[in-house]
Amino acid sequence: MASIKFELESKFGSIYGPEEQEAMLEVLRNNAPTSGDACIQFEKEYAAYCGTTHARAVSNGTAALFLSLLALGVKPGDRVLTTPLTWIATAAAGATLGAEVDFVDIDPLTYNMDMNKLEEKLTPNTKAVLPVHLYGQCCDMDALIALKNKHGFGIVEDACHAIGAEYKGRKSGSMGATGCFSFHEQKNMSTLGEGGMITTNCPGLFERMALYRSHCTRVYGKSTKYCSLDETKLPMGKRFWWQDFDDCGYNFRMTDIQAAVGIVQLRKIDQLNQLRIDSSNYITERIKDIPGLTLPTVTPGNKHVYHLYPLLIDPAVYGMTKDDFVWAMREERGIRIGTHYIPLHWTTAFQKRGFHRGQFPVADALAERLVTLPIHPRLTEEGLDYLIDSIRHFSPLGK
Ligand SMILES: *Cc1c(COP(=O)(O)O)cnc(C)c1O
Repeated sequence: MASIKFELESKFGSIYGPEEQEAMLEVLRNNAPTSGDACIQFEKEYAAYCGTTHARAVSNGTAALFLSLLALGVKPGDRVLTTPLTWIATAAAGATLGAEVDFVDIDPLTYNMDMNKLEEKLTPNTKAVLPVHLYGQCCDMDALIALKNKHGFGIVEDACHAIGAEYKGRKSGSMGATGCFSFHEQKNMSTLGEGGMITTNCPGLFERMALYRSHCTRVYGKSTKYCSLDETKLPMGKRFWWQDFDDCGYNFRMTDIQAAVGIVQLRKIDQLNQLRIDSSNYITERIKDIPGLTLPTVTPGNKHVYHLYPLLIDPAVYGMTKDDFVWAMREERGIRIGTHYIPLHWTTAFQKRGFHRGQFPVADALAERLVTLPIHPRLTEEGLDYLIDSIRHFSPLGK
């Protein structure tokens, strides 16, 4: 009982094993550098996994989103569009660059951005659109790409929930101008609590993101391992190395200890995701007869990796409001139910920017009823049964 409660009362992302410990120690024995050989290896394997030509490790998913928009040239006066139902980092990336951020309402089945409502929000100033592959299922990318081809904005995929998710055979993060990933402790794979990755097929964007990640440093020389070698830029004389800065940039680097763990996690990610998928299917099979619950909809052609398991509660039928359900599960059953996410137009940050409740009616209505069940790779059958039994207990079938 104690262990079941442990599985369900905390927030959990990935799991680590002895392989991660050994990989960390190996880097430690080599003086634990930042952005060294382990990072380069991690980037190489990550790009190969996603099917992109380039990947760059960064300090977190927020930095990945910020650098993507920066590389696309987003500046004050530009418009950036995303969904209101996401973690604030998606929208903050544009806002912190001074752009005007606006939202597109969500699809009532997948909870992702409703691509049918995107076109009316586009203006000539719209520089970027950030689809969020919410809970681990990709957005309708064909529709988005068709609009991009017509209107010419940049697509920045927020794939922070969706490492390994697939859309019509394509990996998340490989379909936009860039793909952004987070390895925060709660994500499907983690690099010691924080970390991120940007993927792209565009050499120009890659170069800009790589530069701004690390102070826009350029090193020219005959024998530098990690930098472009351009001997023509080498000053005359006896110098064999020369440093310049293209612009003022940032430090969004990842350390090699994190990258070494990331390499191991990446090699396990399909297995870790499969555990999530199996747990989710197990839950679905056993709660689908409960009245008043809407279970996740997986669109054909999608591989959903269940970062979270969304559940929509109809209070009139289930017999409990979302708030009462979250409260009762916590107080009476010791289970932490998530409420991801508070729509961003309900928050002070975006109300200060002119938004108000009621502006995105689908998101407004669903957010009153949407909860997320804890899904992570350490859930046992016993834990899952306890979770299922608890959901049933509060339903009309349990009374
Ligand atoms: C976690 C997350 C981010 C930000 O990632 P960090 O690594 O925490 O900076 C961005 N978008 C979404 C949807 C996320 O869940």
